[in-house]
Amino acid sequence: KSRIRKIKMEGLRAYQILTCVSFFVLFPLIHCWGNDGHVAVCRIAQSRLSEAAADAVKQLLPESADNDLGSVCTWADHVKFHYHWSSALHFIDTPDNLCTYQYNRDCKDEDRVKGRCVAGAINNYTTQLLSYNSASSSHSEYNLTEALLFLSHFIGDIHQPLHVGFTSDRGGNTIDVHWYTRKQVLHHVWDNNIIETAEERFYNSNIDGLVDAIQQNITTDWADLVKKWETCSANNTACPDVYASEGIKAACDWAYKGVSEGSILEDAYIFTFFTLQLISVDPSIKQHLKTFNQLQFTLEFSLTWARASGEVFGE
Ligand SMILES: [Zn+2]
Repeated sequence: KSRIRKIKMEGLRAYQILTCVSFFVLFPLIHCWGNDGHVAVCRIAQSRLSEAAADAVKQLLPESADNDLGSVCTWADHVKFHYHWSSALHFIDTPDNLCTYQYNRDCKDEDRVKGRCVAGAINNYTTQLLSYNSASSSHSEYNLTEALLFLSHFIGDIHQPLHVGFTSDRGGNTIDVHWYTRKQVLHHVWDNNIIETAEERFYNSNIDGLVDAIQQNITTDWADLVKKWETCSANNTACPDVYASEGIKAACDWAYKGVSEGSILEDAYIFTFFTLQLISVDPSIKQHLKTFNQLQFTLEFSLTWARASGEVFGE
């Protein structure tokens, strides 16, 4: 079994290198792993971990990541085709126009297999990480490195409003719009364009500026909000059902609102949220802020708890 895991890990590494190389060849100017939203979420979450949780993350990260969780936070997107079973775990389809989410009704894949959606995946990988034991992590029945990379990615995905979207438009993937002058699908606008445009305008196209701005706001203007987000209902380790319910509401209130096939989305589309959300920079930032906070909380809780219980019970 461990040999299979070793082969899998080697495969994973080879795949990472290959993807990196081909990205550099095709798009030499962009980040190796693309998607700044995921990178920002993971970097900030990692920087806020307690010593015990940070240590666990360090142990679990592949060597190639150089202890930077952000550098591998889009790994899950790159293995979708290789691990075909995982592609259904990035989103949730909810009934058209209802703007609500229910685990029993909505968390399933195309073959109606229950639990195969991003909320089910978060529960699953959180449970796996609870088996972490610093002394014997190599003996876990799970591949905890992959569990960490999947969890870190999926907590990002579930907070992107259109990853909890309507069924018939596949979370905005079939809605063609214009982002300013460029043709785009609505889903992609929320995955990439909003945050990239914000980076261009306010941070010299630099992700570090965005990360710094969020880091500063957490300790000042948003401190009360952060406290609220840390309270997960009924002390659960992760609350994906809460995140998914907020997600589809955000999709209806912001992402789908006023948008139809061929809509031109520009300043007005973003700036509506500024007044609504009292956030001065970017509507997706509030989502990202929530996201890293909840990722940090989940990692913190599961890894610290697992380590503490391992020490107590001498596992
Ligand atoms: Zn994804």
